[in-house]
Amino acid sequence: MAENNFIYLDNAGTTQMRQEVVQGMMEFLTENYANPSSVYKSAGRAKQAIDEARGKVAAAIGSRANEIYFTGSGSESINWAVKAIAEGHAGKHIITTAVEHHASLYTCQALEKAGYDVTYLGVDDRAMVTAQQVKDAIRPDTVLVSIMMANNEVGTIMPIAEIGKVIAEANASRENKIFFFTDAVQAVGHIPVDVNELGVDLLAMSGHKVYGPKGVGALYIRRGVKLNPLIHGGGQERGRRGGTENVAGIVGMGIACELAIAEMDEKAKKHAELRDYLIKEILEQIPHSRLNGHPSQRLPGNVNITFEFIEGEGMLLLLNAQNIGASSGSACTSGSLEPSHVLMATGLPHEMAHGSLRLTFGRETEKADLDKLLEVLPGIVGRLRQISPLWEEFQRVGNIDAFTAK
Ligand SMILES: *Cc1c(COP(=O)(O)O)cnc(C)c1O
Repeated sequence: MAENNFIYLDNAGTTQMRQEVVQGMMEFLTENYANPSSVYKSAGRAKQAIDEARGKVAAAIGSRANEIYFTGSGSESINWAVKAIAEGHAGKHIITTAVEHHASLYTCQALEKAGYDVTYLGVDDRAMVTAQQVKDAIRPDTVLVSIMMANNEVGTIMPIAEIGKVIAEANASRENKIFFFTDAVQAVGHIPVDVNELGVDLLAMSGHKVYGPKGVGALYIRRGVKLNPLIHGGGQERGRRGGTENVAGIVGMGIACELAIAEMDEKAKKHAELRDYLIKEILEQIPHSRLNGHPSQRLPGNVNITFEFIEGEGMLLLLNAQNIGASSGSACTSGSLEPSHVLMATGLPHEMAHGSLRLTFGRETEKADLDKLLEVLPGIVGRLRQISPLWEEFQRVGNIDAFTAK
């Protein structure tokens, strides 16, 4: 962060653009302001830069370049995939999970209001769904399965390839195809993603979760899949997404994807080691703390811990005072404190879902940063417990069961 000595551990929220990305974008923020659809020389150069970026994004997920469509965000890609598949194909039934990002969850809820039937698969205590659950939920009128590849809150990596197989098997013996979409915003550039190995028809990505710019995303649409536009307009993106292209953003996303893939193995290994170290230290040093999400099928840079008896928001404020930026499991939306739907779906009771802390690593994260965190965290948790009525009650009753009732 701009401020000196600030330790940023909220990389699942957004990442810092890398210098190579900023530099690559600069030409299209300054001298080359051409509309890529025009005919003069600079427009040709802008168009060529978009094509190059398309190739780089495609390479990051093992697709063809002409299966990549640029959008205005990961959220737009998700809305487009889910709505347009449902509306453009036969079948009124959608299968998804209870732990999707709100861009997916609320799109499905909107479709429910419009008359669709949505099955929200439950997850186990590690936020995992199984291919068998999907298989059991398939109906004759199922048109779409929408399941995220990696969870943005607790980091759990879903068995997408296995689910892809289940859907392919079902499709082999039915007429109305089930389409398979995955929100891979947290996965691309962080763990291996190959659309053919996964067996997905559509896949959503975002620039700013992989050290690229905000306000640009992409949707992979497998060749042959019919998908009406979400944004009607000019003939951009081969008539599938109207709006003059965000040339600089698209170029930045291309560079970000290319570099993320080149560095992925090394970074993932380093992050997984840091992750396992931090989890072990926190669980050892702080009593009544527990890991959320899956212990091993987990994004390399994600740590999510519940500290019983306290509020996540308080932790965030005290960490911020120590120059540490983190995120809480509970999203404070318009003043009303709603506990995380992901943690609730894993079976955590209300109180515990409130006391969660998400720490997500970036390219710059070093062990020294985590040691600084470990220096202050036990004290912060202790302080908050001192002023927590739940903790006081626990000390008096001495029985954890009273607090874990759902
Ligand atoms: C951030 C995120 C999104 C939304 O992407 P934006 O580009 O911010 O709209 C969607 N899904 C997941 C899993 C995310 O982490």
